[in-house]
Amino acid sequence: MKYDYDLFVIGAGSGGVRAARIASQAGARVAIAEEYRIGGTCVIRGCVPKKFLVYGAEFSQFFADAPGYGWTVSGATFDWATLRDNVQREVTRLSGIYTTNLAKAGVTAYEERAVVVDAHKVRLLKSNSEVSAERILIATGGKPHLPEGLPGVELGITSNEAFLLEKFPRRVLIVGGGYVALEFANIFHGLGAETCILHRGDQMLRGFDTDLRAHMHIESERRGIKLMMKSTLARLEKANGAIRATLSSGEAVEAEAVMHAVGRSPHTAGLGLENAGVKVDSAGAVIVNEFSQSSVESIYALGDVTNRMNLTPVAIRDGQAFADTIYNNRPTPVDHSAVPSAVFARPPIGSVGLTEDDARRSHAAVDVYRTSFRPMRNMITSNHERTLMKIVVDAGTDQLLGVHVAGEDAPEMIQLAAVAVKAGLTKKQWDTTVALHPTAAEELVLMREKLGAPGSTG
Ligand SMILES: Cc1cc2nc3c(=O)[nH]c(=O)nc-3n(C[C@H](O)[C@H](O)[C@H](O)COP(=O)(O)OP(=O)(O)OC[C@H]3O[C@@H](n4cnc5c(N)ncnc54)[C@H](O)[C@@H]3O)c2cc1C
Repeated sequence: MKYDYDLFVIGAGSGGVRAARIASQAGARVAIAEEYRIGGTCVIRGCVPKKFLVYGAEFSQFFADAPGYGWTVSGATFDWATLRDNVQREVTRLSGIYTTNLAKAGVTAYEERAVVVDAHKVRLLKSNSEVSAERILIATGGKPHLPEGLPGVELGITSNEAFLLEKFPRRVLIVGGGYVALEFANIFHGLGAETCILHRGDQMLRGFDTDLRAHMHIESERRGIKLMMKSTLARLEKANGAIRATLSSGEAVEAEAVMHAVGRSPHTAGLGLENAGVKVDSAGAVIVNEFSQSSVESIYALGDVTNRMNLTPVAIRDGQAFADTIYNNRPTPVDHSAVPSAVFARPPIGSVGLTEDDARRSHAAVDVYRTSFRPMRNMITSNHERTLMKIVVDAGTDQLLGVHVAGEDAPEMIQLAAVAVKAGLTKKQWDTTVALHPTAAEELVLMREKLGAPGSTG
């Protein structure tokens, strides 16, 4: 045979594993290389362990709300080592399932780093060998970006290390304003740490709806997370058994842990893409067409390394679409429209479709429906957290363009709202659905009054 394999996948994360399994089940001879742990970011140090920490952090709010419901909770204490080790045990179990599933599908796994040699060849570094393949799939994901040139940068951790901390920090400084920053701020805060977010912008969660961003700012402060906006870090140094973070303003903050959460970069450095002539953009992301094919005919890329939409279900879909196109004779372009996303903060966010600002830019006329309320669950407690819901509609066609919720269970609500947005339902059809009472979600189908022009308080 001309090549050792039909397909060689670099990176056994969400996208790579799906592509490898489907291709192999379709009859292709497939190999996959993984340099860290099979399962990738989501399973090992992303969505899965994070959600467990979110669940762990929620208990403090339950305890705080308990007296309103007649419960007395005394002597509740938190042990980080128990939570950390239980989560890691589950992560190891899941990684094992991924490994077994690859083997069951007939995929050969190399647990080592692989780099591209040319359009049909990869080099396995640990085994010091080269293998050839008709096609190569780059699914190497992303990695935390570290602030360049920051003195003392190595004193900080990233989300990678946050899951494995030896000791739970009493004070935490999180640098960044994206969803990872806000989620970890709520995790640390919920587990009992004094928590501060430092962000160079004036508001967190760029890319989310403006009203939601403002809402999260208010709710984070209400909760006791300190927000230092329009601030940047000048240096980190050891001081008093902790880390002193000096800001550009000269102000200093001390913490036991400083977490860099200033974004993620496509994992392409040192991958040898230039050897094959694969084009990348200025951020290092592999440039691909709608079939995930790169500038080199035999090399494909998908998931976070393409920096299109960095979410696990998207990487999985991209992997499935690639394998269906090439190995199942079912050409399937990727479809990144109406993809729901969540932020597992307090309150959690669920969001799908266009934000109001995006809709106003792309549509001639837009109707907006918005409501904010203190949910029933909080009414007999001292919890003043509020829920915000917003629906964005094309005024011309009445089609739903976006649904955005910040409130308890918002991610669960949005998964189903995404069905309506994806299906292109109209607001009139949405409104014919009878409410389910008593829930918070029922408010979503009871919003009848349009807001006025932008700036209107509604
Ligand atoms: C803290 C955090 C929380 C997140 N939470 C969510 C969430 O709640 N929901 C959600 O949908 N998404 C979430 N994500 C994003 C999600 O994890 C990614 O979108 C997803 O994992 C992308 O899958 P992928 O296959 O592209 O890459 P990855 O899952 O990153 O897999 C890439 C793999 O390639 C390996 N690799 C890299 N280079 C090489 C090489 N040269 N040789 C061999 N192996 C290599 C890496 O070790 C890695 O295992 C989160 C991410 C982070 C960091």
